[in-house]
Amino acid sequence: MSTTVTAAEALPLEEKAALGSGGSAWKSKTGPGVPPVVFSDGPQGVRAQDAAEDHLGIAASKPATCFPPAAGLSQSWDPELVERVGAALAREARHHGVGVLLGPGSNIKRDPRCGRNFEYFSEDPHQTGELGAAWVRGLQAGGVGASPKHFAANNAESDRMRSDSRVDARTLREIYLRGFEKIVKDAKPWTVMAAYNKVNGVYACQNRWLLTDVLRGEWGFEGLVVSDWGAVDDRVASVDAGLDLEMPGGDASSDAAVVAAVDSGALDAARVDAAAGNVIALLERVRAGAEAFPDRSIDEDAHHALAREAAARSIVLLKNDSALLPLATGGSLAVIGKFAVEPRFQGSGSSHVNPSRVDVPLDEIRAVAPSASVTYAGNTPEEAAVAAAAAGTAVVFLGLEDHEESEGFDREHLELPAEQLELLRAVVVAQPRTVVVLSHGGVVRLGEVAELAPAILDGALLGQGAGRGIADVLFGIVNPAGRTSETVPVRLQDVPSYGFFPGDDSVVRYAEGIFVGYRWYDARELDVTYPFGHGLSYTSFEYHDLSVTERRDDLLVRVTVANTGERDGREVVQVYVGKPRSAVARAPRELKGFANVPIPAGSSVQVEVSVPRADLAYWSESLGRWIVEDGGYEISVGASSRDIRSTSVTGINGDDVPVRFTPRSTLGEIMRHPVAGPAMAAMSGRTAERDAANEAALGGDVNRLMAQIPLNRMPTLSAGRFGADRVNQLLDLANSESE
Ligand code: BGC
Repeated sequence: MSTTVTAAEALPLEEKAALGSGGSAWKSKTGPGVPPVVFSDGPQGVRAQDAAEDHLGIAASKPATCFPPAAGLSQSWDPELVERVGAALAREARHHGVGVLLGPGSNIKRDPRCGRNFEYFSEDPHQTGELGAAWVRGLQAGGVGASPKHFAANNAESDRMRSDSRVDARTLREIYLRGFEKIVKDAKPWTVMAAYNKVNGVYACQNRWLLTDVLRGEWGFEGLVVSDWGAVDDRVASVDAGLDLEMPGGDASSDAAVVAAVDSGALDAARVDAAAGNVIALLERVRAGAEAFPDRSIDEDAHHALAREAAARSIVLLKNDSALLPLATGGSLAVIGKFAVEPRFQGSGSSHVNPSRVDVPLDEIRAVAPSASVTYAGNTPEEAAVAAAAAGTAVVFLGLEDHEESEGFDREHLELPAEQLELLRAVVVAQPRTVVVLSHGGVVRLGEVAELAPAILDGALLGQGAGRGIADVLFGIVNPAGRTSETVPVRLQDVPSYGFFPGDDSVVRYAEGIFVGYRWYDARELDVTYPFGHGLSYTSFEYHDLSVTERRDDLLVRVTVANTGERDGREVVQVYVGKPRSAVARAPRELKGFANVPIPAGSSVQVEVSVPRADLAYWSESLGRWIVEDGGYEISVGASSRDIRSTSVTGINGDDVPVRFTPRSTLGEIMRHPVAGPAMAAMSGRTAERDAANEAALGGDVNRLMAQIPLNRMPTLSAGRFGADRVNQLLDLANSESE
C-alpha cells in the first residue's frame, strides 16, 4: 500500500471525504501539510482567473500565450513540436501558480458537427494517442500535471450532461478508448478527467468498469481521476466506482453523503481511503513539481515565437494549382475578408484564452513582404472584386465565426456562411489568381471553394501566431507541411454518424461502429473532397524501396523518401495497415504509425517507423481480449490515406488463442478443427462422392448450410443417428487437442 493511502487512512472519515471534493472553482482542498492544487483550463493556453471564476470561458482570465488549439496543432502531425508546446504551457502554468492544466482534449472527432472538435486532435485514435502523449510528456516534464479529457465517449455537445453514449465493446476499445490508452500507458498523466456523459448506461463518473477495471486495472493508471466540472450526479456512486475528486467545490453536502454511506455500510471505507490517498498523492506531486522548477518567469517573446512556429507548421496546403503559391514578395496583393484583420484563431467555451498578443494577418503580410503593394477590402463583394481586379493576386480569408461553433452546442450543418461564398464568387470572377485562407474549428464543406479557388490554405484554428504563420506560408518563408487530421467529406449525408448524431432522447447510438472518419469513407469507397492525412508542399516527394521486417515485438517499416523538388521540405510518411481476410469487419486500412521528416531539396532519407505487433490486434467481443490474427497484412506507406505510394504484404503468426468447444459450437467450427474435423467426417461417413451427390440433389453447397448448425442440435436433426455420444466424443477430441 502506498504511503499516501496510509497517510489518508490516519485521517478522520470526515476529512477524507472532504478531500474528495474541491475547495473552490479551481482549487482542491488543503491536504495534511500540503497546499491545495490549482487547476486551470487548458488546453491551448493557461486560463488563469483572478477575480470572477467560471468554467465556461465567460469571466476574464490573465493574459497567456494562445497556442494553436488541437484542431490546428494536430495538423502538424509532429509529436516533437507538440511536446515543445507542452513544455511552454508548463512554464506558463508555473508562472500562474497552476499545478494541473486541464488537457489534452483526447476525444475522437466522430462527427464533424461536434461543437468541440476544435479541442480534439483527430478522427483517428493512433494520431490522437501519439500527439496527446507528446503534449502530456512536454507538460509534465516541466512539473505540471495533465488531465486527458473527457474520459470517455464524449463526442457531442448536445445534452452532454445527460446523454448516454451506446457503443459496442469493440468500437469502444479500438476507437474511443485507444487514444486515452496510449496516452495513459506512454505518458502517465497525473490525472484523467471523467466525462459528463454516460457510457453504455452508466455516467462516466460512476462507471466502475471505465474508471477502475479498465483505467487502473488494465492500463495501470496510478494518478487521480477528477470529474469534469459539475459532472457528478451521485457522489457516493462515483467514489464507489473509482472517482477521486469531484470538481468544482463549494458544496459540502456530497461529502456528508459519503460519510453517511460509509457509516451505513453502503460504501466501503477502503474506497474513501483510496480516493483521499490519490488526492494527497496529487497534492504532493504538484508541490514537488513546483519545487523542482522554482523559476516562475516566462519569456513571452519566446513563447510568441513558438506560437508562430506552431501556427505555420499546422497549416495545410489543400490545393495549389499551377504553383500559384508561394507568392512573390514583390508583387501586388489584395487581401480580402474580415478575418484578415480580426483573425479567428481559437474556439469558445472553457478553453478560451486571453491571448498575450495577437498577430493580425494583414499586418504580418505587410511585414513579411514590405516591398509588395498590399490593399485590403472587407467582406463586401463589390469592394472586394474591385480590389482583387486591381491587384496581381487576391488572398481571401474565409471561415466560421465564433458564434457558429462552440463548446456547449453542436452545428447542424457543415456549410460556410452563404455571404462568404458570395464574396469568393465575386472575387474569383475579378481575379483568377485567388488564394483562400480558411479558419474554422470543425470541418466545413469545401466542394465549391475547391472548384473556384486555385489555391487553398487551411489552418483550422492556429492560435495567436496565426497571422505570422499564414504570412510565412503564403510567401514560402515556411514550406507548408501540415496534413489534415479529419476527412473533408463531400456532403453531410456522407458522414458516418449521419442519422445517429447527436442522438435522440438522451441516447447516442454509435451505429457506425468502428467505421469512423476515413475508415468509413474508404470502406464505402465514397468520394471525399480532401482525405485524411492530405497536404501538399512547395516541393515534391517520391517513395522508394519499402521493406517490412517482422521483429519480436514490432514490424519495422522502412522506406526511402526523396525530395525531388527545389525547396527543403517536410514529409509526413503515414503507415497504414489492412487485413484483407479477417474474422471481423475491418476498415480497408488503419493508421498505425507515422514519421515527420525534414528532407533537404534533392536529398533522400531512409524513414523508419515501428508498428508494435500489439497494434495489429482487434478487440474480440466474445473473448474479451485483443487478438492478433494469423495471416497476411497489407502494410502501406503513403502521403495520405488515399495517396498510398507502396504496399507490402507481410505474413504474421497470430496469437495462440485457446478455444474451448462447447455443445453450442457449430459443425463448421468442428470441421475446421485439425483432429475433430476429420473425425467428424469419418463418423458421418462423409466422402467427396457423397458431397457431390448431395450438392446435385439440393442444388447448393450442403456443407456450408450444415456448418451453421450447433452440435447439440444434431441428435434431433439427425433423428438420433448422430447422437449425444458422438457429440461428446467430438467435444472431447476438440478440447483435448486445443489444450
Ligand atoms: C469542460 C472541461 C473543462 C471544465 C473546467 C467543463 O465545462 O467540459 O473541458 O476543463 O469545464 O472549465
